[in-house]
Amino acid sequence: MMPCPKCDSANSIVKDSRPTMIGTGHAAIRRRRACGKCTYRWTTFETIGGDQRLGQQVKKLTAVLQRATQDLQSVSAELNIEAGRLLADEDG
Ligand SMILES: [Zn+2]
Repeated sequence: MMPCPKCDSANSIVKDSRPTMIGTGHAAIRRRRACGKCTYRWTTFETIGGDQRLGQQVKKLTAVLQRATQDLQSVSAELNIEAGRLLADEDG
């Protein structure tokens, strides 16, 4: 239970919950709550379980991108060497 921020009563009810996005594309649930004791209303945001999983996916994707970048760099280095040879041959 989410205690009321005003009177600290645990007697709060969820009036409405809907999916939303917070920050940089984090999925979350936005909940409208109302206190059953003092009728105070407030909103809470709950991130959907698996922020950790999301972080791991981002890490995996970053690793794949790094590897691809390294591959591209080595390919472009080889191409440079090859181009250098071809130019040297033409000059020769
Ligand atoms: Zn209250």
